[in-house]
Amino acid sequence: MQTRLVKLLTLSISALTLSACVIVTPDINVQHDLDTHIFTKSESTPKNIIMIVADGMGPAYTTAYRYYADDPNTPEIDATIFDQWHVGNASTYPATISGVVTDSAASATALASGIKSYNGAIGMDVNKQPVTTVLHRAKVKGMKTGLAVTSQIVHATPAAYVAHNESRQNYNAIADSFFDDRINGEHKVDVMLGGGTDYFIRDDRDIRQLFVDQGYQYIDSYAQLSSLTNDAGALGLFAPVGLPWALDDIDPSRLRTMAQTATRILENNQGYFLLLEASQVDWAGHGRDINSAMAEMQDLHLMLEWLVEYQAQHPDTLVVLTADHSTGGLTLAANGEYRWEPASLHAITTSVTAMIKHLVNSADEPTKRLAYIKAQLGFELTQADQDAVLAMDMNAKSRSLEDVIKRIIDRKTNTGWTTWGHTAVDVQVFAVGPGAERFAGHQDNTDIAKRIFELLD
Ligand SMILES: [Zn+2]
Repeated sequence: MQTRLVKLLTLSISALTLSACVIVTPDINVQHDLDTHIFTKSESTPKNIIMIVADGMGPAYTTAYRYYADDPNTPEIDATIFDQWHVGNASTYPATISGVVTDSAASATALASGIKSYNGAIGMDVNKQPVTTVLHRAKVKGMKTGLAVTSQIVHATPAAYVAHNESRQNYNAIADSFFDDRINGEHKVDVMLGGGTDYFIRDDRDIRQLFVDQGYQYIDSYAQLSSLTNDAGALGLFAPVGLPWALDDIDPSRLRTMAQTATRILENNQGYFLLLEASQVDWAGHGRDINSAMAEMQDLHLMLEWLVEYQAQHPDTLVVLTADHSTGGLTLAANGEYRWEPASLHAITTSVTAMIKHLVNSADEPTKRLAYIKAQLGFELTQADQDAVLAMDMNAKSRSLEDVIKRIIDRKTNTGWTTWGHTAVDVQVFAVGPGAERFAGHQDNTDIAKRIFELLD
């Protein structure tokens, strides 16, 4: 009897401790009714919502970034903001018709609308009917809306939040939708920053000019971002298609720069919904390019470092970050060796894409070519590495030329890849701010949209 009583007492003490823990969490206001043991929970709702999609950023990428970013002069491995903001995981599988490996369009449609669709679908369900997205709902509510991405702004992820199209490939039609589709007579998106002049300034239609005629501010360089004012919409297109790799861009922290501008313009009494995308983590994964993968992660992390401060100063802002899927089957160690060493990546300040472009344009002799690559990589090459560079057929496709260099970097760091495409592994979910606890634990990618709809309604 006595043992049972002790157990019961211990249990109720743990329950009290637990509820005490919950009460001090700043985002939840829990009232514990001692008589009925019923918890009534009233959450504060966010005024602003910043949704961040890191395209292709499976768990191996955030882990890789922790080791890559670690300060070698301290004995412990330092935590990243990903570690600090991590709250749960999400499954990413698309509608049954497309199996379990999603593409960016189906996953973005799920994240934006809460509805699973087929691979390739932009804001449409399996029956090719348009679906309502959280961006639409925010606009209907009278909030301002924006997007800032490192791909072209009509690429799958931003497109799925804004447009409705049966195929992600229809870039021109998607760009048309950005201008033509209205909510209560208004354009859907107040601030649009990223790449994509090829789709907005066309021979058949100059959508940029149409936006300007409607009072939008238009800019085509980062330097002009500071000139944008918050009394009109803004369209900023900084590249023909996607932005350059972070490694090659004149602003290596362009995601932070764009996010700072977007938030400045969007702030208003009614609140805003802002989609940010680190689009090119995925492109590095498809290219099996650990060098650019870590640079794109750095671009994202620099933006998060700023966002930590922004969120602290704007505690009514909810930030949710997730990936749409993982890309490349990145693994941190390969070939049976218990070793992953990203340190040498810090000395490489050019993308492999740019290195090959330089070699093709310069048409250097093999020995000069080798000297250039040695200088770019900054680490000792093995004899096999040197032979591979000397044997490069400069008439081959740039993708296979890039591969020669990428495999050298993989050997140095002992990085592994399993596919040129996406994988079906779950992704992580990160959140901070009012409502963040709704994203805790395991969920499906559609749940992320459902939680945001709840917070908007
Ligand atoms: Zn993707």
